[in-house]
Amino acid sequence: MICPKCHNDNKYDNLTCDFCMAPLPMTKEREKEIEQKKKLEQKEKYRKSMDKLIGLSIGLVIIILIVVIGIWVF
Ligand SMILES: [Zn+2]
Repeated sequence: MICPKCHNDNKYDNLTCDFCMAPLPMTKEREKEIEQKKKLEQKEKYRKSMDKLIGLSIGLVIIILIVVIGIWVF
């Protein structure tokens, strides 16, 4: 969100400018944009936590496999 007063680029959901503290205009279009971006952020968070979970599961499977193979070999 570009500040109309000082042209500082603020985070998209800022209500005031980080640099000059001027209130940023809140139009219907901007509200929609903020909503969409928040949804996207949530999706991204979900995807990242799923990636972590999958990574953890793969690690666990590898450990179990090593243990099972170790028991089977010896
Ligand atoms: Zn500003």
